[in-house]
Amino acid sequence: MDGGFDYQAFAASQLNDLKDAGNYRYFADLERARGAYPKAENRDGDARRDVSVWCSNDYLGMGQHPDVIAAMHATLDRTGAGAGGTRNISGTTHAHVDLEAELADLHGKQAALLFTSGYVSNWASLGTLAARLPDCVVLSDAGNHASMIEGIRHSRAEKRIFKHNDPEDLERQLASIKPGRPIIVAFESVYSMDGDIAPIAEICDVAERYGAMTYLDEVHAVGLYGPRGGGIAEREGLMDRLTVIEGTLGKAYGVMGGYIAASAEIVDFVRSFASGFIFTTAIPPAVAAGACAAVRHLKTSDVERAAHQARVAEVRGRLDQIGIPHLENDSHIIPVMVGDPNKCRFISDELMRRFGIYIQPINYPTVPKGTERLRITPSPVHSAADIDALVAALEDLWAQCNIARVPLAAQ
Ligand code: PMP
Repeated sequence: MDGGFDYQAFAASQLNDLKDAGNYRYFADLERARGAYPKAENRDGDARRDVSVWCSNDYLGMGQHPDVIAAMHATLDRTGAGAGGTRNISGTTHAHVDLEAELADLHGKQAALLFTSGYVSNWASLGTLAARLPDCVVLSDAGNHASMIEGIRHSRAEKRIFKHNDPEDLERQLASIKPGRPIIVAFESVYSMDGDIAPIAEICDVAERYGAMTYLDEVHAVGLYGPRGGGIAEREGLMDRLTVIEGTLGKAYGVMGGYIAASAEIVDFVRSFASGFIFTTAIPPAVAAGACAAVRHLKTSDVERAAHQARVAEVRGRLDQIGIPHLENDSHIIPVMVGDPNKCRFISDELMRRFGIYIQPINYPTVPKGTERLRITPSPVHSAADIDALVAALEDLWAQCNIARVPLAAQ
């Protein structure tokens, strides 16, 4: 029809705006070879080359772990590819049930519930709890991940944002809420872009004073912290003070899927009312079995966690030696600050082109404008030679782009 809305032109112009602002998302098309991580092959049109990956969330390399792969193979051979249905209609298998039991135990909770991803677990769980608790108010940390924000939005509950990692601001806001209303305090333990860690105990103190339930996203902490990989709350002995702990199986556990762990009643409530749980096919049993093997392994093995922390400290120290500015934090995430979207993109492209190093640039809206960065995630499988190559490449590009360095004395 003539004169109708031009959908293609509209999409193209929106994309051009993103490109002009330096915020268009390009991605590398990688192939990870079994056992070779952090090396991967990057396919760019017809060109292929080997690259070193420095921005993966497979923080410990568990996606390549022999126990995980063996469990996936064995389950695939025994059960076939898919779950065959939604969880409530034929899609619940032994692998799902065993994994949920393992996760409940990991967090010291009565029950756990699996979702397709960490994103879906936040969206569905917060969306359901906040929608169904009568006249609920959600207090959401200003730094919360999009999946929590979308879940809260979807619930249509009243939302108030408290200052990032600020229990005093949380308390001020809670004090103004009519007593008796249900309240959810939603926050994360390790924030993925700055790598800073929440004052969980203080937030729980405040929440408890106001009868609020606490919902903690430990996506960037499970597997990595705590004696059994139960996250920061486990490390700090706080798991029993959190109403809901949410995590992913796609990062430190190296596979895919998300979950919540909580009391039997809360889990059954979410299971019974969350559309994002009910109306979607269950994850394949082989995926659940692989994740289960990773969770089990990291409950008893500290080797990967110790090597991870050592590697992170080493990379940080080396960056400090050459004055490459990065945010200080107490986690495993090293945000190297560039502060300009086009330079960030350029450095990332040059790392790939000249040095065979892959670090995706992180630009607005994932991070605020002016704080564009390279988010570096060292892992136990990066070698000393990998680190040398990374440091030399960054030093070279910093000089080429004329970005300020931090003098050693100022560190
Ligand atoms: N929460 C946080 C804080 C995250 O960073 C992410 C993913 N980047 C998610 C949840 C979603 O987890 P998943 O990747 O398993 O969907």
